[in-house]
Amino acid sequence: MKVLIVGSGGREHAIATSVAKSSKVDKIYCAPGNAGIGQIAECVNIGAMEFDKLVDFAKENEIDLTVVGMDDPLVGGIVDKFEEAGLRVFGPRKNAAILEGSKAFSKDLMKKYNIPTAGYENFTSPEAAMEYLETSKYPIVLKADGLALGKGVLICQTKEEAMDGVKELMLDKKFGNAGNTIVIEEFMTGREVSVLSYVDGKTIKIMTSAQDHKRAKDGDKGLNTGGMGTFSPSPFYTPEVDEFCKKYIYQATVDAMASEGREFKGIIFFGLMLTEDGPKVLEYNARFGDPEAQVVLPRMKNDIVDVFEACIDGTLDKIELEFEDNAAVCVVLASDGYPVSYEKGFEIKGLENFENKEGYYVFHAGTKLSDGKIVTNGGRVLGVTAKGANLKEARANAYEATKLIDFENKYMRNDIGKAIDEA
Ligand code: ATP
Repeated sequence: MKVLIVGSGGREHAIATSVAKSSKVDKIYCAPGNAGIGQIAECVNIGAMEFDKLVDFAKENEIDLTVVGMDDPLVGGIVDKFEEAGLRVFGPRKNAAILEGSKAFSKDLMKKYNIPTAGYENFTSPEAAMEYLETSKYPIVLKADGLALGKGVLICQTKEEAMDGVKELMLDKKFGNAGNTIVIEEFMTGREVSVLSYVDGKTIKIMTSAQDHKRAKDGDKGLNTGGMGTFSPSPFYTPEVDEFCKKYIYQATVDAMASEGREFKGIIFFGLMLTEDGPKVLEYNARFGDPEAQVVLPRMKNDIVDVFEACIDGTLDKIELEFEDNAAVCVVLASDGYPVSYEKGFEIKGLENFENKEGYYVFHAGTKLSDGKIVTNGGRVLGVTAKGANLKEARANAYEATKLIDFENKYMRNDIGKAIDEA
């Protein structure tokens, strides 16, 4: 069969790598893709938001299955467009992708269905938000309702900071219409865990856990980024936590969406905080995490195409998900200066060291082919993933592997997986 993947990051490279392992797949296309994806798929020069062109491409090339990796096209309704054209596509429709697309929606859903999350209020008027902040407890969290590339969340230590935050989000419109509505949320403390799942509308199957590192610098300092590295599984995701989440969070979310007439098919990413009062939902995403996919998918034993198809067909109950009994760590190699400003176009050396290197993966994010050479083309350039018998071994392997790759202005965090030592 022929598969089209929509997206261009490390997550899509990880998805493409898993799809390439399927015995059912003869040909993979990726729109728009990147230099690494181009080694296992044919990259097509169509943007992820160009729905009509993508539908035409899928029809002309008789694509059997399209997989959408990114949030923007999902929230924008790409799945509806493909379905209207009679094409098979993996991902939530627009009315279900709102679970990620609107934080106000997801908070209201959790409240209505008693799914554990931080206390909050939604605001559409800056004056009302500011009045609320007069009598709030600090620190407090402000969130732009819509998609803001992971940057629409402000943790405010004081009333003054929070007032400035309301101004930034609602009046200065730093994230455009994403800030027309804001959520003001109670500040929680605890460890964060990411749990990805496959959903077919009714049944949910949980994947192995992972943990992200969002800040740019060691010690969780610096600005928020798309993610500087991950490890899987999380040693803090204990059987007790799993049991609690299965009872109160996972199925409850799928059932809540179905009850609202918003049947969810695709990936639900649960961003959890393990608080003193038990696990609570920080956020939902409607797709694989990036770079969580880069540590979770290499450990999955199932044929991913079977799982995608079961989600579309509503037969996920027949699938038993299986993960390797090991660990994986991904260290992101970025361009120095990310996430603010950085130079691009430097040749990446050493990639050949990873050809057929069992247990190691180099997932491309911001790369492109230029005059036959692979060069840097973004803030996050590559994700180097290594497996190991346990987390410590995987971490040592991943950091050893980062030494094999070089490019000008290469930057990485040196403490990915440090939390492993505290477990
Ligand atoms: P992304 O899409 O990049 O995962 P996002 O913009 O959807 O991020 P959230 O995941 O909701 O934002 O929040 C980003 C980070 O802010 C969280 O990972 C967490 O560290 C922190 N955060 C969010 N809500 C709270 C809260 N209520 N209390 C404490 N910290 C919080």
